Amino acid sequence: MKLVCLDLEGVLIPEIWINVAEKTGIEELKLTTRDIPDYDVLMNKRLGILKEHNLKLRDIQEVIATMEPLAGAYEFSMALRSRTQLIILSDTFDQFASPMMKKLDWPTLFCNTLIVDDQDRITGYKLRQKDGKRRAIEAFHSNGLSTLAAGDSYNDLTMIQTAHKGLFFRAPDSIKKENPEIQAVEEYKDLLAAVNEFLD
Ligand SMILES: [Mg+2]
Repeated sequence: MKLVCLDLEGVLIPEIWINVAEKTGIEELKLTTRDIPDYDVLMNKRLGILKEHNLKLRDIQEVIATMEPLAGAYEFSMALRSRTQLIILSDTFDQFASPMMKKLDWPTLFCNTLIVDDQDRITGYKLRQKDGKRRAIEAFHSNGLSTLAAGDSYNDLTMIQTAHKGLFFRAPDSIKKENPEIQAVEEYKDLLAAVNEFLD
């Protein structure tokens, strides 16, 4: 059996933290895994900024509630799901993801969990596991599944390299240049064509 694993932010939905940065006016929150490849360094920086500005979980959830999937993402994901299973492998958090998952008609999501205190302050986070995207792909392979994976960022690289077929989707030029052997596509129709080729 074959299945498709996709990154979430930048592939199906906008970058959550960039939206939070724009809505709150806090420029430093615009940094993503595209800018800082080390996820722990990036997340600790974000949590420090939230604390400094006294932003709570519900402030971020309010921003997320105003967001929509990327144009064409819903139609693409439903076309894909009519042919095979879609698993979203994301470094986001379950407390952030639900409103967007609803708008995508509840695809399967593997992500992380925020640690929130009784004052609604985000005090930390719990990763499913280190390098969880790659390890999910490896686990699917050990279950006898064949995988296609696509993502846009540094945190997708090991997943893309480990899958039987891996692609960049709307990745920045820097990552594409550093990994010229990985096929890069920019439009859903081209990603869907790669999926169909993989499935046929
Ligand atoms: Mg991404």
